[in-house]
Amino acid sequence: MRRILLAGNWKMHGSMKMVESLLNGLLLGSQHENPVDMAVFPPFLYLAQAQALLKDSNISWGAQNLNPASQGAYTGEVSAGMLLDLGCRYVLVGHSERRALLGESDKDVALRFEAARQAGLEPVLCVGETLEERENGETESVVERQLDAVLQGSGIGAFGRAVIAYEPVWAIGTGKTATPDQAQAVHAFIRDKISSQDGTIAGHIHILYGGSVNGSNAADLFAREDIDGGLVGGASLTAEDFLAIRDAAV
Ligand code: PEP
Repeated sequence: MRRILLAGNWKMHGSMKMVESLLNGLLLGSQHENPVDMAVFPPFLYLAQAQALLKDSNISWGAQNLNPASQGAYTGEVSAGMLLDLGCRYVLVGHSERRALLGESDKDVALRFEAARQAGLEPVLCVGETLEERENGETESVVERQLDAVLQGSGIGAFGRAVIAYEPVWAIGTGKTATPDQAQAVHAFIRDKISSQDGTIAGHIHILYGGSVNGSNAADLFAREDIDGGLVGGASLTAEDFLAIRDAAV
């Protein structure tokens, strides 16, 4: 049985004040045993603050990106080892905003995934099609290509300690959520693909849905067989909204 995982991607939002009140709100709202697993992904600068506030809690934290190199002359970049220093459990790789706005290719994503895995972080691999690709009937081939790049680089065993997030690009930050049927179909496709290489890993791996998840649509999405939780952007920026999704998930 896979426990629901709720991951909050804060993107480039926040301030020290906001981080303190948001995390204290989440801590207050999850004093008793959380019925779902929760993780937050603050900007790099606030990871130390998240570590200080969350270290004795049942909420995990991770980063939104990493550089595949372990160290060196990469001005402005952050390595897997640095993220481990700050107690990160997870790191996002291949978020569609990084693919589209910062030019990350499938190969770049595969290198980041492998660097995270080798260091002992759990990569959260984001995949998903654009609206144009969906309308052209290319959803499965795009998702398959994005998965294959990582499978070829790291091997199926690497997915034993990783998370996949299916995030249709047209649903991210737009208020347009994939229907539970649309999302389930792609999640089943992803799980089948993993299963064709390793049935045990396919049974355990969390496949999250991302794209305008909120307290009103989460229950229907998370009720589907292959949807194991959510990667949430906008609705993870207040404790009230994030906890409403948590409450809807149980
Ligand atoms: C995201 O950033 O991964 C995301 C899914 O954003 P939103 O929930 O705002 O669509």
